[in-house]
Amino acid sequence: MPITPTEKIWMDGELVDWADATVHVLTHTMHYGSGVFEGIRAYPTSSGVAVFRLGDHIRRLFASAKIFMINIPFTVDQIIDATREVVRVNGLNDGCYIRPLIYLGYGEMGLNPLPCPTNVSIAAWPWGTYLGDEGIKNGVSCKVSSWRRHDPNAVPTAAKGTGMYMNSSLAKVEAIKAGYDEAILLAPNGSVSECTGENIFIVRDGAIITPHTSDSGALAGITQNSIETIARDLGVEVRHEPIIRTDLYLADEAFLSGTAAEVVPIRSVDDREVGTGKPGPITVEVQQTYFATVRGEVDRYKDWLDHVE
Ligand code: PMP
Repeated sequence: MPITPTEKIWMDGELVDWADATVHVLTHTMHYGSGVFEGIRAYPTSSGVAVFRLGDHIRRLFASAKIFMINIPFTVDQIIDATREVVRVNGLNDGCYIRPLIYLGYGEMGLNPLPCPTNVSIAAWPWGTYLGDEGIKNGVSCKVSSWRRHDPNAVPTAAKGTGMYMNSSLAKVEAIKAGYDEAILLAPNGSVSECTGENIFIVRDGAIITPHTSDSGALAGITQNSIETIARDLGVEVRHEPIIRTDLYLADEAFLSGTAAEVVPIRSVDDREVGTGKPGPITVEVQQTYFATVRGEVDRYKDWLDHVE
């Protein structure tokens, strides 16, 4: 997905020109994947552009940093304000994707990250839907990856650590080379964990089931949490339960969720059609309510929107 440059990127408290937002080749995080980051979206609403669940994303950013013992030299409120500022100064009134990154900078090398300087950047740009409009509408094909999700005792799966995404990239490349849209990763114990950058759900007998994040090593997704609330409010039962590979094949419906991907039906898994192979009714209802929610069209979820002006 190509990036469309905008004007300014926030770096360590200052707005710098897009083209000048560069780092030295000996930046620690470039070598050891020692950063943490977030992916956030802002959407147009009838009362101006609004960032979806901004506070929750920034708190998760700080939680990721805490796990890796990175001290962010700003407060949560300062990063929230900076995020709003980036959307505002770049005039991203039609919505955008926002990428805050905490990285260990230039000046130290070696595996002890503690003496490294900590840098913060926040960039934003217009970004279409991550798995494509066709996927949103008709669903994506998935392949269970030969790569396992991390063991939470090998790397902390509760964090969005930059280096951890080598695992997602391996699975993504394998799936794409094999002709699928997305990969599904199993946890070390063989149960279903999540996709490369999305949580996974199945629908069985009218209920939504999604793996428990702490058991499965999946990230506790903010979209996943939003969907759980939306589904329950729609009267749909939601359960956190372990699921196995064949549960995917035999599900009535399946879908995935993430900030970048949004809510995407899963059409097939390992060449087996899920349900009818078309987006199912519960998936579609949840998806439509999610899209209305992020655009400020559902009153009960207006607290999730953080207006930029
Ligand atoms: N799992 C992984 C591995 C992810 O990178 C993401 C994206 N942040 C998600 C799940 C979905 O999380 P969210 O809904 O908070 O974007």
